[in-house]
Amino acid sequence: MVGSAPALSVVVPMFNEESVLPLLVTRLRGVLDALGEPYEVVAVDDGSTDRTAVALHATRRQWPQLRVLRLRRNSGHQAALLAGLMRARGAYVVSIDADLQDPPETIVDMLRLARSDGLDIVYGVRADRSADTPFKRWTAGVYYRLMRRLVGKDVPAHAGDFRLLSQAAVQALRELPERTPVLRLVVPWLGFPSGEVAFQREERAAGRTKYPLSRMVGLAADSVTSFSAAPLRVATWLGLAGVAVCVVLVVIAMIAYLRGGTVTGWPSLYLAVLFLGAVQLLCLGLLGEYVARIYTAVQARPAYYVADDTDAPVELTDSLR
Ligand code: UDP
Ligand code: MG
Repeated sequence: MVGSAPALSVVVPMFNEESVLPLLVTRLRGVLDALGEPYEVVAVDDGSTDRTAVALHATRRQWPQLRVLRLRRNSGHQAALLAGLMRARGAYVVSIDADLQDPPETIVDMLRLARSDGLDIVYGVRADRSADTPFKRWTAGVYYRLMRRLVGKDVPAHAGDFRLLSQAAVQALRELPERTPVLRLVVPWLGFPSGEVAFQREERAAGRTKYPLSRMVGLAADSVTSFSAAPLRVATWLGLAGVAVCVVLVVIAMIAYLRGGTVTGWPSLYLAVLFLGAVQLLCLGLLGEYVARIYTAVQARPAYYVADDTDAPVELTDSLR
């Protein structure tokens, strides 16, 4: 299909999704074939250690619209998604999870809305979070409130990486110098006209989640540091507050001394030292988070390496990223 741009590209990052693949293929293909327009599905095998790649190549024999992009090693969901987006050629590009938590049927609604309202971005927004644990619901609530404050009101709440982008929006992403952008924040920040389609997030169709808590924390830290230097100012404010407390304590101690008494109590002394030590370590840690990101940015290593692409377009040079 080299040379002809399809109407739609669907990018699916996959890491060890062998068990869900047959279900995905059936459902996604049903939806896309019914569209009656040329499309491509860009399956990004994110260095799977199971037989995902083999199964994908086998599926391709019966499904020529399936294009398989294999990354050299596991690079993480965001990098895999980015790899797919960089090479997607459709006039519209939809990114979707492999585990059928994002219903493929919603793609049709997204496409319709983008076309009728002339939108470059359509977010899939979760109608509710009933399928999530209370813990995930709570952390997600905090995350989105914080992000809307940092990035702006354009960040839709409860929109993950299930979204439609026009080729123009994807091009804007390609031109971004950042190597590992947090897509769900950078996309709204691009400033294209956007809309939302509500969908019901389903249970994972098969297999297990690849997003442990540690990765969630990592994503949250990346999200904050990539859009705000405000945490660095926390140190300044804590310092000022400490000075104010000190001044008050000195005055109290002096008054006590002048009245002929002394201020007693080693616990207060000990706690004050401990508290200040903790605050200093916290601030050092915050500073470290930013320094670490400067370090990574300066190293400028590619977020991923493409091992092979069944349908490599010659004109794109994203391997330089
Ligand atoms: N994924 C990936 N690379 C990874 C981890 C996950 O490509 O290192 C893919 C995974 O195959 C799935 C999507 O990212 O298609 C979302 O992952 P998952 O469903 O495990 O996350 P959850 O829905 O539990 O947050
Ligand atoms: Mg999932």
